[in-house]
Amino acid sequence: MATRITQAEMSATQAEATREVVSYDPATGEEVGRVPLFATEDVARAVARARAAQKGWGALGFRERARVLMRARAFVLEEMDEIARLIARESGKPAAEAIAMEIVPTLDLMQFFARKTARLLRPERIDIGLYRFLGRTSTVEYRPLGVVAVISPWNFPWAIPLGEVVMALMAGNAVVLKPSELTPFVALKIGEVLARAGLPAGALEIVTGDGSTGAALTEAGVDKIMFTGSVATGRRVAEAAARKLIPVVLELGGKDPMIVFEDADLEAASSAAVWGAFANSGQACASVERCYVHERVADDFTARVVEKVLALRQAVGTEEGADLGAMSSERQLRTVEEHLREAVARGACVLTGGGRARGLPEGGAFHEPTVLTGVDHSMTIMREETFGPALPVMTFRDEDEAVRLANDSPFGLTASVWTRDIRRGRRVASEIEAGTVMVNEVLYTHGIAQTPWGGVKQSGLGRTHGRLGLLELVAPHHVHVNRLAFLGDVWWFNYTPGAASLFHSLARRFATGSLLQALLLSPQMLRRLRERKGQSSGRKK
Ligand code: NAD
Repeated sequence: MATRITQAEMSATQAEATREVVSYDPATGEEVGRVPLFATEDVARAVARARAAQKGWGALGFRERARVLMRARAFVLEEMDEIARLIARESGKPAAEAIAMEIVPTLDLMQFFARKTARLLRPERIDIGLYRFLGRTSTVEYRPLGVVAVISPWNFPWAIPLGEVVMALMAGNAVVLKPSELTPFVALKIGEVLARAGLPAGALEIVTGDGSTGAALTEAGVDKIMFTGSVATGRRVAEAAARKLIPVVLELGGKDPMIVFEDADLEAASSAAVWGAFANSGQACASVERCYVHERVADDFTARVVEKVLALRQAVGTEEGADLGAMSSERQLRTVEEHLREAVARGACVLTGGGRARGLPEGGAFHEPTVLTGVDHSMTIMREETFGPALPVMTFRDEDEAVRLANDSPFGLTASVWTRDIRRGRRVASEIEAGTVMVNEVLYTHGIAQTPWGGVKQSGLGRTHGRLGLLELVAPHHVHVNRLAFLGDVWWFNYTPGAASLFHSLARRFATGSLLQALLLSPQMLRRLRERKGQSSGRKK
């Protein structure tokens, strides 16, 4: 029988008491299933299994690792509809959107990292400047870190963890994945697909549970933590990691601005604003959360936005033709309600939406897509992450004001600039404080495997995706070789007056990086080498 209960009502204490986590369909309130809540000892055992498995997995070549991942990719492609339904059931989003925004990007990411990791992590010869002329070479090899913890949120329950798991595995690490308590079954599906593809047991451990399981993982002696989630939890994870001196990547919240200039293609910009704000019911870290429109085109732009919002179809995510589904949890819906209530109380004007959606399953977490004007930066809806289907629109007078408003935020994940003048777009992009700025685009670059993903300010630390993301998952191993060791080094002991004089010359000439300047040092260097030889032969006698 269907259990009608909101996720917010499922308290952590209840989870602790039953030692299991219950996953609910947020559109219907029905139970999807139950998974174990991993306690500290279970997490420690999972990390130990991963550490044991990493040795064999890390010793395989890139080609063998890629073979496993490409087999898994084939299963994902075959089972795409079933996976999309599962994502829709656990997260509330439309199944079609789960394919477009989660499965397509991961299929692409899997083929990209399976094929390209060997090249991206090829050992590199470093240009060491003048030291080359002293018979030395330096190379950097990229080695696996060991065990990487991936702690992930519920909003992209397939794409976020799978992307990081694939990259970490391709780099030769084992992974312990702690998925969100709201979407554990999607994560278990990732594990199942990879296991069927031949991933050795232990190379990917999935520890289901709530925040206590995540906290246990940060204490379990992993070699790196890849965390995606809220700023508050990110801070806790960073504190735990700092105590253990474990490196951490934090992919946190956003309050991403969209700037629409007077010369923008308003038809395209308004469609982009609607998708950017309401895809996944606005529950994307890179959702358009603030829209700034030039005052000359603001009326035209908002009229188009409202018209397009009215044409959206909201339904249970597994139904065909749904544009918007349910939000992922009742708790998240309440945050949206609070932000809207406060904005309206302070004078904001709701152009469309504004409340819970009607005519949908009772108990489902459906909120109408909402557009509002008359907002300003004193309102929570313009300052804090709303993470829901709300699009506040504000006007600006000129470029400087637009940039100032966009940067007036503690967050800096992505931003979007709309103009037909690409030079202007690039100019404004360079002034915006964000990890990614898109010109005439919104939201989607997490879906590009090759580009770095990550934020500045409170949006996080470090990068995932692209080569920069891959480099987060390896330890650079520098090997330095001296082919002229028999000569000894001029800077070794003893620090005679001749040595001290050479050191002054090194500062003035060698440290310029100029070969010509360094050549002028040759006589002094030779004298010093002879002096050192004399010292050492003197010692031998
Ligand atoms: P959350 O911080 O509540 O939870 C994230 C994960 O951390 C979950 O798996 C949770 O169980 C775990 N966790 C909770 N307490 C923990 C602790 N003390 N130690 C370790 N792990 C702990 O975030 P959420 O509500 O699941 O996700 C929404 C947030 O994620 C939003 O702020 C959103 O912007 C952000 N997000 C960021 C990105 C990005 O790429 N920057 C992507 C998606 C989501």
